[in-house]
Amino acid sequence: MISTKMQEQIKNSSVIRAMFEEGRRLSEIYGAENVFDFSLGNPSVEPPIEVNNAILEILQTEKLMSVHGYMNNSGYEEVRAVIAKSINDKFGTAFTFNNILMTVGAAGGLNVIFKTLLNPQDEVITFAPFFGEYRGYVKNHEGELVIVAPNTLDFQPNLEDFKQKITSKTKAVIINSPNNPTGVIYSEENIIKLSDILREKQKEFGTDIYLISDEPYRELAYDNNEVPYLSKYYANTIVGYSFSKSLSLPGERIGYLVIPDQAADYENIVAAANMANRILGFVNAPSLFQRVVAKCLNAKVDIDSYNKNRELIYKSLSSYGYQCIKPQGAFYLFVKTPIENDAEFCALAKQKNILIVPGTAFGCPGYVRIAYCVAYKTIEKALPGFKALIDEVK
Ligand code: PLP
Repeated sequence: MISTKMQEQIKNSSVIRAMFEEGRRLSEIYGAENVFDFSLGNPSVEPPIEVNNAILEILQTEKLMSVHGYMNNSGYEEVRAVIAKSINDKFGTAFTFNNILMTVGAAGGLNVIFKTLLNPQDEVITFAPFFGEYRGYVKNHEGELVIVAPNTLDFQPNLEDFKQKITSKTKAVIINSPNNPTGVIYSEENIIKLSDILREKQKEFGTDIYLISDEPYRELAYDNNEVPYLSKYYANTIVGYSFSKSLSLPGERIGYLVIPDQAADYENIVAAANMANRILGFVNAPSLFQRVVAKCLNAKVDIDSYNKNRELIYKSLSSYGYQCIKPQGAFYLFVKTPIENDAEFCALAKQKNILIVPGTAFGCPGYVRIAYCVAYKTIEKALPGFKALIDEVK
């Protein structure tokens, strides 16, 4: 018999994954071209050519044992050094390889940092709407996820409610910008205010509160929007980065954590995170892809493609009467449902072979998430269904 903890986890398992499976089932019945699957954040653009070139070059020029062997649990030092330099060049920071720990994607990195920081019942605050998997990641390490109410005006962080939610048990705050599911980039002004609040509360409670910046969408920012680099605003910052979306490599499971020297208890965190990578069963991030990403730090996916999708879906849905904010980054549109019940609205959409995810999965009922990382044609073909949907329910 499986553990009671896992029984509960399975019962509440990801709506997004369930939708993805539903999409495959419907495709078999109606043909893939007649199913409009906006459920999963799986990149729709190819990895840049530099990725293929790097794989070939590494395999052709290096000794295979040096490519495929074990290494330090934190990753190859030369890879971490190149990544540190690249961050320093972009953001004026002063990291070295000691500040970088290679991870199995963002998901691996977040589990490593929660394992490193959390005692049972420690609280981790996040802002709704948020990536639903945080629930599982925090629970894995016996923490409690505390959710700040959404600010549905513009989906910037609700700092008033945030202040109320910080207690002596708050160990960490996790934010995600550009945001999944809203596409909103948290403004510099709000990052400064959020950092001020954290410093105040640290003083009030005599604790260290870590700010975890979950950044898989950092490179997907439109209209030259800036995404503030958080370690410049708040010393106890830990950055979780991923190449899943920035290089379209979600299946390769590669990312890194940045642990700045200024973070409280820095040396112990670095040692514990190295140990966590090992004992969580990752042992280390994939060896070949550590080397590949080190050669592709300036490579870019075709963000114009996502931008074209963004313009089409945002303009069209707005013109049909849907209420939504124009995303500034990532590849999601978060739309207010024209009926109150978001799950019911998703069920109605499914009758038109449109698969979207209820906002409840992101802690924000009354909305749906549309992942527009699909072919442009898919959006074009789905638009009449979206129009019919709102016309029918109004
Ligand atoms: N965090 C957010 C906000 C995400 O949207 C995702 C994936 O969609 C992840 C983390 C996990 O990313 P990875 O594939 O790098 O584990």
